[in-house]
Amino acid sequence: MDNALILGRFSFGMGDRFAQQGLAQLRACTMAAAQGVTITPVWNKSNREHMIVGTEPASVRAEADAAVEALGWRTAYRVDADHINLTTVDRFIAPSDFFTLDVADAIGKPAEQAAIDAFVQRHADLGGAFGLTREKVRAAAGKYLFAIEEAGRIYRRVLSAKGEGSFITEVSLDETDLPQTPDELLVILAAIADQQVPARTIAPKFTGRFNKGVDYVGDPAQFEREFNDDIAAIAHAVAHFGLPGDLKLSVHSGSDKFAIYPAIARAVARTGAGVHVKTAGTTWLEELIGLAEAGGDALALAQEVYAEAFAHADELCAPYASVIDIDVTRLPAPSLVNNWTAENYANALRHDQSCPEFNPHLRQLLHVGYKVASKMGARYLNMVRECEESVARNVTTNLIDRHIRPLWLTA
Ligand SMILES: [Zn+2]
Repeated sequence: MDNALILGRFSFGMGDRFAQQGLAQLRACTMAAAQGVTITPVWNKSNREHMIVGTEPASVRAEADAAVEALGWRTAYRVDADHINLTTVDRFIAPSDFFTLDVADAIGKPAEQAAIDAFVQRHADLGGAFGLTREKVRAAAGKYLFAIEEAGRIYRRVLSAKGEGSFITEVSLDETDLPQTPDELLVILAAIADQQVPARTIAPKFTGRFNKGVDYVGDPAQFEREFNDDIAAIAHAVAHFGLPGDLKLSVHSGSDKFAIYPAIARAVARTGAGVHVKTAGTTWLEELIGLAEAGGDALALAQEVYAEAFAHADELCAPYASVIDIDVTRLPAPSLVNNWTAENYANALRHDQSCPEFNPHLRQLLHVGYKVASKMGARYLNMVRECEESVARNVTTNLIDRHIRPLWLTA
């Protein structure tokens, strides 16, 4: 751990589909720093986003470095190869220093029987205070051991290319249907330690629905119990399995899980634990709001984006089908949206659930609709640059007021 890269107790994963808002995003972190809370910004972009937008991982590094330089940011920052696996990791290796090893697809694939037997043998006393029976350990190993072996394979690929101490490792299991219980998390962490993967963050699938760009659907009290139990499992794993001392939970939020932010804030304040919170596509939505607010041609472009997204809803939603819940009957007709004022558009899209005009269906559609803007190419990017003031204001305000403050500045 001595030469390990700093991640810090609190870190915040920020997505930026079009790599234009690094400065506006980092500004939110400087505002937190001014209030005495250090948050490590982590720019994340998944392979899926790169494929859809047609960008290279190096562009995220360039964006992060430029923002850090421009604002004179002196503490740590990271560039996350988000949700990579053995087939996609290679082009991320040079520009990234944070790797989210996504092994969710390997969950449920059986490891070799001998490996499972050896694991159960080795961890016969795993439960201890957790009351895990040998049968439960065996069942969890049957479900997760192969996936964690896969994490080991991806980790070693990155390690051999980059060398020790040059990157941060996250193991992610979140993109799957069934949540992992804290018991299962303990077994998973034992397997991660066996694989000698020095995980700094672990992203389980939590209970409840984490749809893209809209709030948590589930029981926040149940989430809070599970989150606290997960923190306890991690503390146990750090103490007993030799995993890095700063290992912490990573919440892949799909953005904007405001209903569980108080639970996260309470848990970290009570336990002293750290947390990494990953958001993804909401910065792109703030770009649209900023365009709408700029009015004129910019508003017209935001309306055009909606009309195109509406026309191609099926195709845009397909890659995200399991993480969106759109009621198409609640989507306004483009002819209606085309007559909206800037305020109508911003109110429908901005994630303010107390606003009667807020429309979560429209928001989810636009959240996954970034391909439309990507196809507009320079026309979209130039308009965003032209409207920098209103766009940047919305990007920064969203991060500091709706995310960073409730998570980290309330205690
Ligand atoms: Zn994720």
